[in-house]
Amino acid sequence: MTTIAFLGLGNMGGPMAANLVKAGHTVRGFDPVPEAVKVAQENGIETFPAAIETVAAAEVVITMLPNGAIVKKLYDDILPATPTGALFIDSSTISVDDAREIHRRASEHGFAQVDAPVSGGVKGAVAGTLAFMVGGEDEAFSAARGTLDPMAGKIIHCGGAGAGQAAKVCNNMVLAVQQIAIGEAFVLAEKLGLDDQALYDVITGATGNCWAVETNCPVPGPVPTSPANNDFKPGFATALMNKDLGLAMDAVASTGSRAPLGTHAAQLYRAFAEQHSDLDFSAIITSLH
Ligand code: NAD
Repeated sequence: MTTIAFLGLGNMGGPMAANLVKAGHTVRGFDPVPEAVKVAQENGIETFPAAIETVAAAEVVITMLPNGAIVKKLYDDILPATPTGALFIDSSTISVDDAREIHRRASEHGFAQVDAPVSGGVKGAVAGTLAFMVGGEDEAFSAARGTLDPMAGKIIHCGGAGAGQAAKVCNNMVLAVQQIAIGEAFVLAEKLGLDDQALYDVITGATGNCWAVETNCPVPGPVPTSPANNDFKPGFATALMNKDLGLAMDAVASTGSRAPLGTHAAQLYRAFAEQHSDLDFSAIITSLH
């Protein structure tokens, strides 16, 4: 069993760390928010007043933090304080450039490091069924696998440093475009007098099928568990989709790519998030009538 330092015990990190305890690991945790610390302690995590103390005896250091600036600052603090030979895993969603930068800083200190962002949301974090998209060297990936396992439904090695974040932004850009397209289809169908269930049955059995309709259907009825049946309570909040599309647009700009649909989706979600950041991202359909 491994001694793991877990930094960032929020909506995602809290249940992920709890699953590592359940798997028999010794988990040391830190979060600046007292409520997060209290819940972590109830889940068997030994907490410390600062990140530097948390990593002092760690064999693996996992970060699950709000953004790249926070991850970079924290790495600068903890890299000199972490025992030789430790493995660093960053599961936060951050830009590909930031992921490569923290990988470089960890390497300079002699540490193996992977980016391992996730999809599956809080539900997946609690159930231990997250999909991990991992970027890093082969040996680092092999070393990370056993630690990720109790938190994961699926673990995919996507390539070298930053490849996990690259996969995540590409996937979420597709998802945003599809959720808007499905919303447009249901609004158009309604105006043409077509029944929601009929459209659902046709699309899910035909070439337009995708997660955005099959699981996250944006009208109430066809999929009883979709957020549309529950006042668009997330699910995957618009604020998080907006954040991920911002990272996708950074990547589009820094690589000089053309992504006309992704760019338009990012504009629509940015505008929608101004008023509805707490709603599931499938609620974008309400702006399409
Ligand atoms: P959250 O805000 O609930 O948790 C982040 C935690 O980090 C907070 O508790 C905060 O206090 C803590 N933190 C901030 N600065 C810190 C520091 N210096 N040291 C230690 N802890 C610090 O956010 P979340 O929903 O848990 O998301 C975490 C990451 O996972 C984000 O990058 C997010 O984009 C990504 N993500 C979230 C979801 C989701 O559905 N919530 C899904 C996939 C990916």
